[in-house]
Amino acid sequence: MSDSIDPRAPIRVRHETRMRLLEVIAVNDITPKMRRFTLRGDMEGFASAGHADHIKAFFFPEGVEPKLAPIGPRGAEFAEGERPEMRDYTPRSWDIAKGIIDLDFVLHGDGPASGWAAGATIGSKLVIGGPRGSLVIPAAFDWYLLAGDETALPALGRRIEELPAGAKVVAIIEVEDAAEEQTFVTSTDLSLTYVHRNGAPAGTTSLILDAIKAATLPEGVAYAYIAGESSMSKSVRAHLTDDRGFNPEYVKAAGYWLLGVADAQEPH
Ligand SMILES: Cc1cc2nc3c(=O)[nH]c(=O)nc-3n(C[C@H](O)[C@H](O)[C@H](O)COP(=O)(O)OP(=O)(O)OC[C@H]3O[C@@H](n4cnc5c(N)ncnc54)[C@H](O)[C@@H]3O)c2cc1C
Repeated sequence: MSDSIDPRAPIRVRHETRMRLLEVIAVNDITPKMRRFTLRGDMEGFASAGHADHIKAFFFPEGVEPKLAPIGPRGAEFAEGERPEMRDYTPRSWDIAKGIIDLDFVLHGDGPASGWAAGATIGSKLVIGGPRGSLVIPAAFDWYLLAGDETALPALGRRIEELPAGAKVVAIIEVEDAAEEQTFVTSTDLSLTYVHRNGAPAGTTSLILDAIKAATLPEGVAYAYIAGESSMSKSVRAHLTDDRGFNPEYVKAAGYWLLGVADAQEPH
């Protein structure tokens, strides 16, 4: 057996788990259904080395003021009756010196996170925890496939912006319509295709899979990152590994949400 290190092997980095109480200082609708919150607070020690990292955002029951809790062996320990709902969000950008972080929320209309995003204003509080770790994918691949729906836009956007100049990237992203498309500042060699649901509910179409099936993909060894509705992610993964010859170790398919089920992300 060779003991040489695979330069393409993903690297796991652990971070100290820390909770932070932040305050909204700006709210911007970057598209009609994607709301960006700039939050300020103690960002000392914040680290997010991977584009697909997530923080936990805590949403407290009606009438309970957002607050920090001690971290025990099984995570944050809140008093009975004050236990918040938790959902995962991608650190889109941050500045430790200024003590700020941007989080982008899809306004999909149902659930504690989307509900918070619909109603939060300047001065609203949000408790976040993590990221507890990062998965760093080396920039050692011949090209990169990125696919996902709106929930993945922050992670895909980060990847597109963080990959080095000239990296070949094929991105296929599903959004509601042209108004939901985002543009990215990048010096990668990016081929970006948006597919539109045009009124079909999120999570009910095969637009991403169909677009990837129809695509002529570049030659060489690729790393694929797929994220969004769970069934979509799984179907794209199966197509890439079974029909397109992708190395399963170089395909990460994350379920960011599951149609019809609250708080249902898959292990990632
Ligand atoms: C690693 C990771 C990173 C993520 N990053 C982001 C991010 O940066 N921005 C972001 O907006 N989301 C992100 N998500 C997805 C987000 O955590 C889920 O969409 C979550 O379910 C939202 O919680 P909620 O309280 O609004 O809805 P829930 O209470 O979880 O669900 C209520 C209902 O809404 C449905 N639902 C959930 N999400 C959507 C959706 N997007 N569109 C339509 N229906 C939906 C559910 O199927 C359910 O029927 C991420 C998820 C993971 C795992």
